[in-house]
Amino acid sequence: MTVREFQGRGLTHSHGLFIMKPQDTPSNEQEVDKIIWAFYPDPEEFPELFNLVRTLMVHGPCDDSSDCHKKQGKCKHGFPFEFRDYTDITGKRPLYRRPNDGRGFYKNFKGKLISMDNRWVVPYNPVILLRYRGHVNIMYSPSTSACKYFYGYLLKGSYGNRVNVSIVQKNQNRPPGEPYDHDEVKEFKEMKHMGAYEAHYYIMAYSQAHMYPTVQVLPVYEEFKQTIIYVEGQEEVALERHEGSKLTAWFELNQRRGIHRGKLYTDVVKYYKYENNIWRPSNTHTIGRLSPLAATAFNSEPYHLRLLLCNRTDVTSFQDLRTVNGVVHETYKGSCAALNLIEDEGEIRLLMDELAFEQFPRLFRKTFAILLSNVNPINPGALWDEYKERLAEDYLHQIDDDEDLAFQLALRDILEVLQEFGKSLEDYNLPALDGIILTRHNRVIEDEPQQGALTMNEADALVAQLNEDQRTFFNAVINSVENRSNEKYFFLTGPGGTGKTFTYNLLIDYLLSRGR
Ligand SMILES: [Zn+2]
Repeated sequence: MTVREFQGRGLTHSHGLFIMKPQDTPSNEQEVDKIIWAFYPDPEEFPELFNLVRTLMVHGPCDDSSDCHKKQGKCKHGFPFEFRDYTDITGKRPLYRRPNDGRGFYKNFKGKLISMDNRWVVPYNPVILLRYRGHVNIMYSPSTSACKYFYGYLLKGSYGNRVNVSIVQKNQNRPPGEPYDHDEVKEFKEMKHMGAYEAHYYIMAYSQAHMYPTVQVLPVYEEFKQTIIYVEGQEEVALERHEGSKLTAWFELNQRRGIHRGKLYTDVVKYYKYENNIWRPSNTHTIGRLSPLAATAFNSEPYHLRLLLCNRTDVTSFQDLRTVNGVVHETYKGSCAALNLIEDEGEIRLLMDELAFEQFPRLFRKTFAILLSNVNPINPGALWDEYKERLAEDYLHQIDDDEDLAFQLALRDILEVLQEFGKSLEDYNLPALDGIILTRHNRVIEDEPQQGALTMNEADALVAQLNEDQRTFFNAVINSVENRSNEKYFFLTGPGGTGKTFTYNLLIDYLLSRGR
């Protein structure tokens, strides 16, 4: 799969993900070493390659003032790496051979000479580098667990060419106490600039992305609940044109060809091509995927319908899906139960495996919490233990030295969703939070620049400055925090410049000053 992007200055670059044939896939360190180098070649033996590496494949040097340090306080690409004599592909990320052989050059960086040795070399492939003579970074991914990140990264779109424009009115002469008179929405525009290269690509209708094999999304819907897209006023035409779907065509295929019995809905794309509402024989290289469900649908019929479609091969109608051993069940759930599909935790594990593979950790945690509150698995604690590495994957990646903290942060996120359903971690035998990172409020405070805590008197003095509306809101929240009321959700609205942020900050300061 390849995707083309245009950077801020208009030049094009592309990302590619290549899945190699089994016989070509490097399976050990020696084979990786044949493909990927992260060191300078011998300058006498390969002078041209040496120069290309030196000019194109060296990162930095970088320090805390560099862009790559901004987010994590260290180089997000991991530079400089340690010297090492052997490649190691057993860990989460491959560590390439970077011998301390004295090769490299010196570079003046902020008045200091830095040794740009093998620790700074961006992994590359010598043949590709010699052929294309441009920056081509090659990475080896030993497992499919990182797959979603590659696809996510490839498909994120380019943000480099978005421009946010905000028009600020000169309104400084307003009398004190008067709110700003402006429309924040109107004054903010999101625009996109496009360089000559990108414009050319669009005009010539060159393809922007390429993917192989093709993935076909197969619709999952209950009878008579098919999604149909129509132009207003042309509903009838749309209805006629969409009288069938890939799903109903699969029913028909099963009816038409007895020999086909035994193929799953998702497998049908391997042998058939969907054309004019009919699956016709073809050997296209395509992968079939059922359309994902909205996360709230876990215990409802669409979920069980989907479960049936994952397991049944011999059905010719919606009713047939609900029929088991001649008995027509009223619901898909009933049919699943008759087939023992929802009897044990196997089903939940299948689902968790699928989610862990497909969803980014943040969404996975949310889905997990919704799953807990809706499906009530028998042993949620065991599920947590089994999947916690995947549930906390992003935190584990960010905090490499404190696994427990990463798990705690993941649990905090799960708790936030559970609370929306009036549940807690204890309800599901999940580990408790250790008190340091309890609620979202703490996150607000973590993210706030530390302003130095106010004393109680200072906070009170600021409270005295609140106007009537602000005070009503302030008191309502404080009453809730002090358990004098049961209200838990508050909504504050008002035009820009009327002091909403001031009120929020004061709430935080006030509570901090009282040790909350
Ligand atoms: Zn860096």
